Amino acid sequence: MHVRLLGVDIGGTKCAAAIGCPDGTIEARSEMPTEPHTGPDAITRRLTLMAKNLAASAPGPIGAVGISCGGPLDTQTGMIHSPPNLPGWEAVPIRSMFEEVFPDVPVAVENDANATALAEWRWGAGVGARNMVYLTQGTGIGGGLILDGRLYRGTNDLAGEVGHQTILPEGPICACGKRGCLEALASGPSIARLARESLHYRRGARLVEIAGGTPADITAKHVIEAAREGDPFSKAILEEAGTYLGIGLANIIQILNPELIVLGTIAVHAGDLILESVRKTVAERAWERAWSVCRIVPAQLGDRAQDLAAIAIALDAIGPAGLS
Ligand SMILES: [Zn+2]
Repeated sequence: MHVRLLGVDIGGTKCAAAIGCPDGTIEARSEMPTEPHTGPDAITRRLTLMAKNLAASAPGPIGAVGISCGGPLDTQTGMIHSPPNLPGWEAVPIRSMFEEVFPDVPVAVENDANATALAEWRWGAGVGARNMVYLTQGTGIGGGLILDGRLYRGTNDLAGEVGHQTILPEGPICACGKRGCLEALASGPSIARLARESLHYRRGARLVEIAGGTPADITAKHVIEAAREGDPFSKAILEEAGTYLGIGLANIIQILNPELIVLGTIAVHAGDLILESVRKTVAERAWERAWSVCRIVPAQLGDRAQDLAAIAIALDAIGPAGLS
């Protein structure tokens, strides 16, 4: 029988539901604005209804439901615990809400970075890898670990928080409240901040021009755009961020000895403009026997990543036995 999977992605700006197959094709999807100010009750009511309607339009039954959401959350109890992008979501029992709507199928909840790691491993850059680390470098830096061919969650779902390893003891304050985390040095907003702060004593006229003339408006996207044009100032900023990222990856390589590191978001857009300094730093700081077996590559799923992340969780909830 052809198994269909329902993936639900909950984000701070929009929520989506998608129906997909075990081979990674997406058959149908719906989307709605989250409107976080309306609160968890109203949002989950709209979301479960949207998912129910989408499932009803599918040509066959749904085999499992996977829910991908920013953490912190508890995969055992299926509760979401106050993600920073969803104000008021204190102890929201998201899994039981979906179990009420889909009573006969397994429902699983996972944090979005872990879910995306699984999706890249099943259908993207990580196909075939036994030990893979996924790291996404967007607004924050999140990660997921595939170890010995399965997602590794840790003791209470906090494994893979690679963005919050200390890189600079006296570095800038991170969104998590600690100091000098990788996220505070190499996330999108951190790259933009580094660029803005460096304008005072380095050149950066072209970057300011690309940002529309106002230094305060500079984003990581502008830095990448200017670096692509060859702007030396912006290239140096990406190189500096790549050095911090390389230190973080060298730490990961020393601890986990992975064969593959998949980098999402900024590495996908900036390519070698950041990857060159990442690889150079990794080779300087990790042991050659460890880094020489580890490929560092950009993610492949692009704008399908969020839908497929949630669908990957649904597929995981079924397990291999459920597919036969
Ligand atoms: Zn942090």
